[in-house]
Amino acid sequence: MGSDAPAIILFRRDLRVADNRALAAAVGTGRQVLPLFVLDEEIAGARPSGAASRWWLHQSLAALGERLGDLGSGLVIRRGETAKVLAGVIDRSGAGAVFWNRRYHPAEAAVDAALKKSLRACGLIAESFDGMLLHEPSLVKTGSGGFYKVYTPFWKALAAGSEPRDPVDAPDSISGCSARVASVPLEELKLLPRKPDWSDGLAERWTPGEEGGRRALAGFLRHRIEDYAEARDLPGRPGTSMLSPHLAFGEITPFQVMAALTRSRMADRNPADAERFRKEIVWREFSYHLLFHNPDFHRENFRREFDGLEWRRDAEGLRRWQRGLTGYPIVDAGMRELWRTGWMHNRVRMIVASFLVKHLGIDWREGEAWFWDTLVDADAANNPVNWQWVAGTGADAAPYFRIFNPVLQGEKFDPSGDYVRRYVPELEKVPDRYIHRPWDAPARVLADSGVSLADIYPPPVVDHDVARRRALAAFAAIRGGGNDDETGETKR
Ligand code: FAD
Repeated sequence: MGSDAPAIILFRRDLRVADNRALAAAVGTGRQVLPLFVLDEEIAGARPSGAASRWWLHQSLAALGERLGDLGSGLVIRRGETAKVLAGVIDRSGAGAVFWNRRYHPAEAAVDAALKKSLRACGLIAESFDGMLLHEPSLVKTGSGGFYKVYTPFWKALAAGSEPRDPVDAPDSISGCSARVASVPLEELKLLPRKPDWSDGLAERWTPGEEGGRRALAGFLRHRIEDYAEARDLPGRPGTSMLSPHLAFGEITPFQVMAALTRSRMADRNPADAERFRKEIVWREFSYHLLFHNPDFHRENFRREFDGLEWRRDAEGLRRWQRGLTGYPIVDAGMRELWRTGWMHNRVRMIVASFLVKHLGIDWREGEAWFWDTLVDADAANNPVNWQWVAGTGADAAPYFRIFNPVLQGEKFDPSGDYVRRYVPELEKVPDRYIHRPWDAPARVLADSGVSLADIYPPPVVDHDVARRRALAAFAAIRGGGNDDETGETKR
């Protein structure tokens, strides 16, 4: 293999050209560059993407292909086992180098480590780079050499470290590979939903791809961050960055986010808001840190003492939760936002997750799986780690006995009911006073609002006090008791 043999850049969940160190390295060799994406769904231990993520992937690959084409080298798309596909592509192109950005699910990291070894054994250059996380999970260690199980010391350790590196510019151009390497049409990956096609609401809300991520970040720093610490808890207002799917697909990197935050000088002008936002980005790092050390986070209670908890089997309750028909308006609004747009506000994610686990007594894994399938930002680390946090089974988790009252949560965080009315339009005319508890409204008020609790909107699937007592009893059975806490306060 000569030193002019082409270089392959292997794309995975890093669907961008800016701050892509693997792409920069491939271009930097001066060789012809072959961008390759392989849809590999056979990695043991890692989960295939859910339906909403597949929709996003399709759109994001289309955007990336166009961008790479403009730069001079179109994207080759294939499906199959990465190592096998790569061997064929290397054969066909005569490539002498393969570059990629690192992944941190242990199963994927193992595949990549084996790949590196075998490519190098064949005399190829094989290099991997950072991009997905600010800190390599393997390098962040507690004083005693273990991994962090509590967020605050993790945050402090990272905050005391060096500033993140600067992002790397996108290449001005890419010298394409002259060898003809077959690519399958994107449609053949069959990532889009058909019969029924439920993706209209997703397409309305989102612009997948690097440009969409760049715009989301710019818009957030221009209009929303100044009030972030408070507004991030109010689902009726656009108070957060909406960056999660762009981060999940690597269309933007945390390095770019941090650099833009620094450039905005927000830390001088609104230190509390800037710090709060930085802390959320570091929650993402913490989730990956936990996943890296606990590959089965989506399957196993992190705190094994919860293995003895008796979950309820309640197919009807689960179905009503999934469809947004629990009779608790804030829960139903959240579940319908998720179904329609592929996303849900963080505060509401906590409320609906708590409702499933504590009010319905259903195993957190059922909820995690539903989110995995329906979220466009479904993330192998953030999803299970947050579910276990809410369930009380996770690392640094909210105590199991903290049981959110969905009425108080709604009244506190959606006081005028804007959020509920947006997603539960049958309650549109219910006065603010009853919007989070329509069952308390006098019959005349309900009639004037056009609501009947029999056929327009359901009565509560379970009474709050009954549910709370049942959850506490289940908890007491394995822990020997605990205190209730209804304030709805969380440190998040
Ligand atoms: P912002 O408030 O603007 O935050 C900026 C970024 O920080 C986010 O994009 C995200 O990358 C990160 N972040 C924010 N909150 C958290 C958090 N609690 N944990 C980890 N990282 C965080 N987030 C996902 O990205 N994918 C998931 O699959 C996911 N599942 C969740 C499940 C449950 C039950 C809960 C309670 C939370 C989950 N989250 C998940 C975390 C959080 O809800 C989303 O990251 C956030 O709502 C995304 O909106 P945003 O980009 O506007 O957030």
